[in-house]
Amino acid sequence: MTYDPNNIFARILRGEIPNKTVYEDEHTLAFHDINPQAPVHVLVIPKGAYQSMDDFSAKASDAEIAALFRAVGKVVELTGIADAGWRMLANSGANGGQEVPHLHIHVFGGRRLGPMLARV
Ligand code: AMP
Repeated sequence: MTYDPNNIFARILRGEIPNKTVYEDEHTLAFHDINPQAPVHVLVIPKGAYQSMDDFSAKASDAEIAALFRAVGKVVELTGIADAGWRMLANSGANGGQEVPHLHIHVFGGRRLGPMLARV
């Protein structure tokens, strides 16, 4: 599958759609999810055009990979969720339930998050 440059996160990165930024650096943007599933729900995305974690891990530079994971740590620090605990999640493809085809790491915190996966 080829990367869709008109996905909503690509449009946020181009400044076409506003976002509530939590953290930004050369390679990464983190912003509040528009439909939060927890008191803290932040999305951490690479600025490069990657669809999923497997795409990113195969093609991104070491600097981009380091920046994404350091940005997760920054978001945890900035939102104050480290001590109480938190969760990160990256959905990929149809079985993973990915809605936006630009890699994003969800960071959740601020309440007990329950079991890792819902029973279906
Ligand atoms: P996923 O199902 O893993 O692809 O998650 C996509 C996430 O993007 C959902 O949690 C949406 O609420 C969130 N989302 C969609 N549009 C926006 C937007 N414009 N700003 C912030 N978050 C968004």
